[in-house]
Amino acid sequence: MRAVVTGGAGFIGSMLVDRLLADGHDVVVLDDLSTGNEVNLAGARATAGDRLWFELVDLREDRTADVIAEAGADVVFHLAAQADVRASVEDPIADAQANVLGTIRVLEGARRAGSRKVVLASSGGTLYGDVDPSLLPLDESTPHRPESPYGASKLAAGAYLRVYGSLYGIRWTELALANVYGPRQDADGEAGVVAIFAGRLLAGEPCTVYGSGEQTRDFVYVDDVVEAFVAAAERGDGQLCNIGTGVETSVDRLYRSMTALVDGPAEPLRAAARTGEPERSALDHSLAAAELDWRPRVDLDVGIRRTIDWFRSGN
Ligand code: NAD
Repeated sequence: MRAVVTGGAGFIGSMLVDRLLADGHDVVVLDDLSTGNEVNLAGARATAGDRLWFELVDLREDRTADVIAEAGADVVFHLAAQADVRASVEDPIADAQANVLGTIRVLEGARRAGSRKVVLASSGGTLYGDVDPSLLPLDESTPHRPESPYGASKLAAGAYLRVYGSLYGIRWTELALANVYGPRQDADGEAGVVAIFAGRLLAGEPCTVYGSGEQTRDFVYVDDVVEAFVAAAERGDGQLCNIGTGVETSVDRLYRSMTALVDGPAEPLRAAARTGEPERSALDHSLAAAELDWRPRVDLDVGIRRTIDWFRSGN
């Protein structure tokens, strides 16, 4: 098949590109390189030849729809986004321009190309908001109560996906991702605590834990997430599926696991909790198991080791 991957120079997107090429597909990447990096596509470029095409496009440009229409893809994987929660609070209009209007342009392109399927990267942590911990792990029936402009723009993107499904018959799947980690995540980024800790520990610098350290996240390894996108190209039509392990891991436990592999102080630095971040988080993946035949395969300790090895190798 021919696939478009928006955000294909980013962390998750570039891993998906590698996998699609390895499976023999043709791939068109759209990216503005705002947080992504062409280095992430170097391996793909070296081996894929003309099966990989890169288009430098900002989703805020109208021509996004033309580029996607001309790409003529069977499946569009839409991962490009303004994905920084705090940036969305500081500039909600810029966030919506990329994540809401940008998504509509992607959908317009898919419609004009006659694409059979669109798979959207959404965010479980922000879509559901901060919920009663007794409901954890959250399933897809959890009400959508985003608490940031980023969460609201992802919610709107999902709404447009459904509208294009009902108006034009485009099949779709929305993946509500938990906290994704693994090689190629930006150690200087805003999210990605595993990458941030790995970068700092390997540089011999202290790590800061915000809040009690008892706050939990659901860490899911990037290869497992890529598997979910690949499965969603063929299955899970008309579904929002959580892609998480269902397991809560505290940030302190994560720090201990990482300092068992890389020398670092027994105790991290401590700072006040950051507002707007949920205290606890975990996503139930029963629906993904049923609809996508998807389950997380990579255990956290194995994933952490692989991630640290990747950072240690200098990439
Ligand atoms: P990333 O920042 O590495 O990737 C995003 C990519 O999109 C980058 O390559 C960036 O250059 C590109 N991009 C951003 N704005 C763009 C624009 N206006 N036009 C064109 N390209 C643009 O982040 P990621 O972690 O790989 O995230 C991929 C997707 O998964 C995003 O939609 C994000 O919201 C979603 N997601 C990620 C996580 C996570 O834990 N990493 C969790 C939930 C959801």
